[in-house]
Amino acid sequence: MFELPAKALALQAQTEQFFRDRILPNNHLWHQQVAEGAAVPAIQQTLAQEAKALGLWNMALPLLQEDEPGIRLSNLEFTAVAEILGRLEWASRVFNCHAPDVPNMELLQRFASPRQREQWLNPLLEGEIGSAFAMTEPLVASSDPNNLETRIVRDGDDYVINGRKWFASNGSHEKCELLILVGVTDPDAPKSRRQSMIIVPRNSPGIELVRNLPVFSHLSASNTHPELLFTDVRVPADNLLGEEGAGFAMGQARLGPARLHHCMRAIGECEVLIGLMVKRSQERSTFGKRIDEYSSTKEAIALSRIELDQVRLLVQMTADKLDRLGNKVARKEVSMIKVAVSRTYQAIADRAIQLYGARGVTADTPAAHAFTRARAFRIYDGPDEVHLQTIARLEADEQDPSGLEHYLFGG
Ligand SMILES: Cc1cc2nc3c(=O)[nH]c(=O)nc-3n(C[C@H](O)[C@H](O)[C@H](O)COP(=O)(O)OP(=O)(O)OC[C@H]3O[C@@H](n4cnc5c(N)ncnc54)[C@H](O)[C@@H]3O)c2cc1C
Repeated sequence: MFELPAKALALQAQTEQFFRDRILPNNHLWHQQVAEGAAVPAIQQTLAQEAKALGLWNMALPLLQEDEPGIRLSNLEFTAVAEILGRLEWASRVFNCHAPDVPNMELLQRFASPRQREQWLNPLLEGEIGSAFAMTEPLVASSDPNNLETRIVRDGDDYVINGRKWFASNGSHEKCELLILVGVTDPDAPKSRRQSMIIVPRNSPGIELVRNLPVFSHLSASNTHPELLFTDVRVPADNLLGEEGAGFAMGQARLGPARLHHCMRAIGECEVLIGLMVKRSQERSTFGKRIDEYSSTKEAIALSRIELDQVRLLVQMTADKLDRLGNKVARKEVSMIKVAVSRTYQAIADRAIQLYGARGVTADTPAAHAFTRARAFRIYDGPDEVHLQTIARLEADEQDPSGLEHYLFGG
């Protein structure tokens, strides 16, 4: 186990208490308000004000400055609280620690001009507005960013954007005021210099909401995944984030922490599922035996514990490496946790569904929704195969073949 400083442990205890006293007892109310169509349920707003007043705010931003609201934690320190936030899909929003706003804020912290910080970063840090990241396109295989076709063309003091994006999570949420859009500024430049990022006000003329995409039939106003069409969308040239051609490099910088935080939250949700598996198997009997007495149940629970503790350590190791050595050096570990956690998450959700029988496939337990979220996680932020390819390539680069022949015999 990685040792965490006293500051992180104290914050963990405070967050735990707030979660148990204020968030968990309001889980049913939150779902009821979402079912009634709320994008930001009133209970979530109330709890966010309480959490902010306690200083439990913006805990996922290692670059947070002294005069900005919240508590700065390193990535490793954030692991102490992220799991608590991950237990419920909506809890991160109470603490302004949710995707995609956190990775977008980190992008702005790293690359925004003073004007951009004032206009966009500050209200995001306060939790007053929301944001989305628009990279993926329906018409091209977007796990290879070289395929992106959306154009960002300079025209006088403006840039003009044409293209189609989808799965820009949060991009049709009522709080969303900005899209950070990735597009091609110079199709003739070397591959890694073709793309740029630009801040697009969500209400810009020329942005059409084509549809909100369901994820495994699930649609909700609180968590949207829109398809957006951009036709001659004009934004001021100084909305460009960083310099022209730097989009690819900035995208890499954004994805490290984004993936790490998804992994931490998923581990928290898996802890809930294991707890529910134990509870359920102790409560029901078949053929004269309690379900927890069957070896298949013991195995399901034991494997879940082994796999979860393995990935937790891997995540802590990655957080530590990100903190000390940065995104580029930790990229193999980031890919490793992305694959390992999403698969573990899916496996544990699958076992939880099985132990709950028919109830497992309903919305009466978190297992079915967790399963779909885990399945989607194996695709978003890069499909498994792409990460495995990265890991294998970096592994081959790091290997030293000298002397290996001595282990071998025969021809
Ligand atoms: C719930 C959800 C939320 C999302 N949120 C966002 C968001 O906020 N912003 C955003 O821009 N995008 C978002 N996405 C999109 C996501 O990041 C992309 O779907 C992902 O990068 C894959 O791109 P693609 O769908 O175009 O798949 P493709 O690139 O078409 O790939 C399809 C499949 O091809 C195979 N494949 C691809 N490359 C390889 C390879 N190298 N080796 C072997 N097989 C390969 C894999 O099986 C892969 O799954 C989200 C997606 C989901 C499901």
